Amino acid sequence: MEKRLRLAPSPTGLLHIGTARTALFNWLYAKKNNGKFFIRIEDTDIVRSKSEYTTNILDGLNWLGLYWDEEPVKQSNRISIHKKYIKKLLEIGAAYRCFTSESEIFELRENQKSSGLPPKHDNRHRNLTSNEIEEFISQGRSSVIRFKIDEEKEIKWEDQIRGEIKWKGKDLGGDLVLSRRSLGYEIGDPLYNLAVVVDDNFMNITHVVRGEDHISNTAKQILIYKALNFKLPIFSHTPLILNGEGKKLSKRDSVTSIDEFKEMGYLPEALANYMAFLGWSLKDPESEILSLTELSKVFNLSDVNKAGAKFNWEKLNWINSQYIKKMELTKLSEFIKKYWNEMGWKSPSKEWDLKLVNLIRDSMILLKDAIDQSKPFFSLSQMQKEGEEFLRNKKEAKESLKYILQYLKEKNISKINSDNAREIINKISVNNSIKKGILMKSLRVAFFGCLSGPDLIQSWELFSENKSDVILIERCLI
Ligand code: GLU
Repeated sequence: MEKRLRLAPSPTGLLHIGTARTALFNWLYAKKNNGKFFIRIEDTDIVRSKSEYTTNILDGLNWLGLYWDEEPVKQSNRISIHKKYIKKLLEIGAAYRCFTSESEIFELRENQKSSGLPPKHDNRHRNLTSNEIEEFISQGRSSVIRFKIDEEKEIKWEDQIRGEIKWKGKDLGGDLVLSRRSLGYEIGDPLYNLAVVVDDNFMNITHVVRGEDHISNTAKQILIYKALNFKLPIFSHTPLILNGEGKKLSKRDSVTSIDEFKEMGYLPEALANYMAFLGWSLKDPESEILSLTELSKVFNLSDVNKAGAKFNWEKLNWINSQYIKKMELTKLSEFIKKYWNEMGWKSPSKEWDLKLVNLIRDSMILLKDAIDQSKPFFSLSQMQKEGEEFLRNKKEAKESLKYILQYLKEKNISKINSDNAREIINKISVNNSIKKGILMKSLRVAFFGCLSGPDLIQSWELFSENKSDVILIERCLI
């Protein structure tokens, strides 16, 4: 049978890393089994749902490469169908109208709190007669529809990640509210647990994969599935993503939305690759750098851990740097040129761009690092303390630079390449008995203002092509 999975985000915020990871696990499992992956936008909370969040969620999934099958289902278009099923539950006696007012519920909670009990509805209107119902309605009292939860029942299911899960009916908070308040015999707007069951059944979802914070919902939903005689899907509850302190990653943690990761310079392939390891691992990994297609071949829900997954920035950074290293040069340069344009930096030629990108890529972790790494090639780098000290204290330092300038002038060399650069350094070193190391360090200080930086010869070539090498050397001799 075709495996059909779905992501059911509520568009009440930007695409969060937790939702994206859930999408990824659903997607990987669907692809592994030649199944389908659908989206359902759970937008029935009209106050908090916003269409820009729907756009953001879909854009984010697209960016990550998690493409879905068919048009996303919009839950708000299906309200009348949800109500039809609520009606059915009323008709078969599995649900009833409950008139407990907000203030009565508040009072009940307060009493429970003072006796140290968890909040739980007391099902006070479970057995109202039709006369009593009519009486409440004629008094103008509003009602919700509650689903009867059998306190004696134990709900059990085989979770693909956690094995057997058992939940007691008495721990589900009393009879479950299926719809918002309404007046008369109207049925109010449906709530999550009812809508999700009706829609998953309608979409023929075979596997529900979602966060472990939904475990108690699953117990409630299984009861609704059974009451409506729907076929149960297979459930999997993924571990939470934890922050450095071992707490659930929340909006309070610095970076949580996919937009922020994008903004910081993470590549979608790298982020998707990293997210796969948030709660899942390969038994004998030959490499942890895997594309979505490669991941989908080896991924399995039964290998997902039960314990929370700590977010590991170092690992994410390492994976991102690996993708930067192996990315096609022209593609990488397209990304990097956007930053250069933003900075207003102009380059002498396309070839020069590619050479520079190739030179700095190995020291980049984030795409954004390209700004700092390429800055010295566009604007005179500041002389740093270690550079100044080197020029002052190393007696051959300034001498070396003078010889280099002299040599360039005498031989009329205006274009440096790796061959003539080496020749220049060798000749000056031999003719003037200056160590090659000193010559190179002096040049490095001239170019970068310090003793570190990318490959010197390749850098020199680039500086000479944008005609700044002589200027940079001269500034050290003033
Ligand atoms: N709308 C729910 C959420 O975003 C969906 C949970 C589910 O997958 O059933 O948490």
